[in-house]
Amino acid sequence: MPHDADIILKLRGVKTYFPVKAGVFRQTVGHVKAVDGVDLDVYRGEVLGLVGESGCGKTTLGKTIMQLVKASEGAISYSSATEEVELTGLTPQELDPYRRRMQIVFQDPHSSLNPAFTIFGSLEDPLKKYGVKSREERRKIIGDLLEAVNMRREYMDRYPHEFSGGQRQRIGIARALSIGPELIVCDEAVSALDVSIQAQVLQLLMRLKREKNLTYIFITHNLSVTEYLCDRIAVMYLGRIVELCRSEDLYARRLHPYTQALLSAIPVADLDKRSNRVVLEGDVPSPVNPPSGCPFHPRCRFRQDICKTVTPQLKRYSIDGRDDHFAACHLIDAPEAAAAA
Ligand code: SF4
Repeated sequence: MPHDADIILKLRGVKTYFPVKAGVFRQTVGHVKAVDGVDLDVYRGEVLGLVGESGCGKTTLGKTIMQLVKASEGAISYSSATEEVELTGLTPQELDPYRRRMQIVFQDPHSSLNPAFTIFGSLEDPLKKYGVKSREERRKIIGDLLEAVNMRREYMDRYPHEFSGGQRQRIGIARALSIGPELIVCDEAVSALDVSIQAQVLQLLMRLKREKNLTYIFITHNLSVTEYLCDRIAVMYLGRIVELCRSEDLYARRLHPYTQALLSAIPVADLDKRSNRVVLEGDVPSPVNPPSGCPFHPRCRFRQDICKTVTPQLKRYSIDGRDDHFAACHLIDAPEAAAAA
């Protein structure tokens, strides 16, 4: 595991709740607990995968990290070589210098590119905001950015509708890079693309990471891309991290029953492996009223009585001499229960 000095982002007890309003006076009658107590360290230069089914809270966690959604509780700290700053308490003006260091790439770049503006028009705004006053200089920077994402610099004078989905996503990546970020949150950044285009965009992201020493948080529901892309993977369920470890350990030695079910659903050509598929019953429960105890217990084939009342905490486990595997499950401390189940 990297040294603590290499941490770029630190999350402690982060919760993001949204009020549920009802009645004539729009009173708050409950909360959607989209993120429900996340502790996480992100190391400089790594690719951290954030995975789980739809509705598990991974996109909300990404937006909370980016300060696009305000955390209801907890602390998010950003570290550079010289300082550690808690972002959660800052005003929008105080946040500005840190927004520059963290950018996000969304699933649908079309919705974030104004159809009335040329690519130059869309990409010059952040440059203007961060002090590039000369139009000629902005054109040069945007041309260089387009070339960095394998596009021709003259494309800057075209409009978004003139590009394919893969090209628009590359423009979205160019925009994220325009003000020199250190950390990029990729929120389902390749999910809407054809498989062959996905591979090109993933290769581009990895090349840019190497060239610019970037850190990625890669949010996806597609576990077949994370194995090759990510250094570590955090698995989320109902707003919590239930397993966190190196990518190779997750695929070889997953500990949590939810992770086992998710990974068993990845399509494989080997017929023997297909028979090991674990079918998850039902949908993710409502985050307005999550189950007591372990939130996964209504769907878990190994559940015990304790699972209905006591919430398992994310604990560190030592495997093969390394102690960087974390999981939240009562079963791991009582493996005989799994054998009996
Ligand atoms: Fe299943 Fe219990 Fe582990 Fe939750 S704590 S995943 S219900 S065995």
